[in-house]
Amino acid sequence: LYGFSRQNSKGIEFGCGEERLSLVAAIAKTEFPSTSATPIVGDQKFTGKAENVVSPNDGRTVVGSVINASVETVDEAMKIAGKGFEAWSRRPVEERALALSKVADLLEENSDRLMAILTMEAGKTLPDGLAEIREAVDFCRYYADQANALFGEGVLMPGPTGEENRYRHRGRGVFVCISPWNFPLAIFLGQISAALVAGNAVIAKPAEQTPLIAYEAVRLFHEAGVPLHALCLVPGDGSVGAALTAHPKTAGVAFTGSTETAWAINRTLAEKRGPIVPLIAETGGINAMLVDATALPEQVCDDVMMSAFRSAGQRCSALRLLFVQSDVADSLLAMLKGAAAELTLGDPRLPSTDIGPVIDAEARAGIQSHVSEMQKLQTLRYSGETPVGVLSNGFWVAPHIVELDNAGALSREVFGPVLHVVRYQAKDLDKVLDTISDSGYGLTLGVHSRIDATVKKVVDRLSVGNVYINRNTIGAVVGTQPFGGSGLSGTGPKAGGPGYLHRFALEQVVSINT
Ligand code: GLU
Repeated sequence: LYGFSRQNSKGIEFGCGEERLSLVAAIAKTEFPSTSATPIVGDQKFTGKAENVVSPNDGRTVVGSVINASVETVDEAMKIAGKGFEAWSRRPVEERALALSKVADLLEENSDRLMAILTMEAGKTLPDGLAEIREAVDFCRYYADQANALFGEGVLMPGPTGEENRYRHRGRGVFVCISPWNFPLAIFLGQISAALVAGNAVIAKPAEQTPLIAYEAVRLFHEAGVPLHALCLVPGDGSVGAALTAHPKTAGVAFTGSTETAWAINRTLAEKRGPIVPLIAETGGINAMLVDATALPEQVCDDVMMSAFRSAGQRCSALRLLFVQSDVADSLLAMLKGAAAELTLGDPRLPSTDIGPVIDAEARAGIQSHVSEMQKLQTLRYSGETPVGVLSNGFWVAPHIVELDNAGALSREVFGPVLHVVRYQAKDLDKVLDTISDSGYGLTLGVHSRIDATVKKVVDRLSVGNVYINRNTIGAVVGTQPFGGSGLSGTGPKAGGPGYLHRFALEQVVSINT
């Protein structure tokens, strides 16, 4: 179950000029508009009005088009997937796992095209795009291994009854997977692959902003041998997601996105008069990092840059609130400002780019208005320059560092490159821990300290899903750092971990009087 012999997928060596150049050239060769996405519901053909999908890199560039699903399509998909479930769930687990392994191979074979779409549709930088494809590959292979270990004939249970008692797992039915735009391939595919390999049929609803990469991914599943009926795709807005979760035939929901939407899904599921179904939710966090006076400043600086600004801060694991012991706060702030000024905002397809755009105009406006609010009552310590010229048609937000007079001044997750810093006195460490705990979130936490007792105290006190000591707080590795949090950050199951598949399956015990 812990997969000690499994290997993660290979990346490319970015320091190697040749590999980097050939990637850049391959991306440049992809022609746009690239994909005409439609719902995928059995072999039904979809015609009708296609909407353009524009690039966050340049709002005038059309990356592809999408015909969105209607609420009626959801009904149709539920019928098709219901039939698909009957056949798919009866397939031996080895066959289901083999299909996932093939998806992993196809992802690797098609990585240039996928990279091109990720950079254009989601504004992913080259390192982020590559990491995302690798994570998607890892999810497939990891869940395939896990399923083989978990979902075969089951295990014979010990006991005094004199019967044969077999404990086994099976699919639940039609699982609804609703995924976010910030990991439009890895999270999208992670949810689907877990649900499918556990024996469910899936209806996937990708984020409204990223239907193209989702469409490409679903086609790879079908190419790999997952039957058309076992996996449907219904692109669309929130109304499609709402219809899916409200549907009486939905047997489970996997959701990654905002806490608000997770509450809404929970409410819908609770109000249905029908089977009581599970919700697997992974939401956000006001993720904190604690830095005391014994920490190594250069290491802290690197890790803060990575945690707060990589992916333009658009990770639910990203650092939002940095607590710095006051003795070292001024010197650390000076270093952070210097390091932030070194970050290059630019076209995500260029190797020189550190920070790409945020996902759309609405996201940019929300972050900008947060910064303006902060500027009124708090102290803006650093504000980077927004790109001009050819980049001005894209949705860039420069990194910002705001010093808060108290941690309570940040009461919600702001999904962008804005770092908030709070000073604390060594004697007030307990109060800091209470503040972090009282936020109600529990996704990631960073601690930078060379005092083992401090580290232990922090780790023991806070129920946060992923705690990172003396390193950055992002980029959890599948099978090694299972990822997910609790409280306002989610229902707890850890993607890429040994307990994840259980949440998608029913347990069954068959007792035979032999
Ligand atoms: N798993 C990702 C990480 O460790 C974050 C996932 C998310 O943003 O939803 O950075």
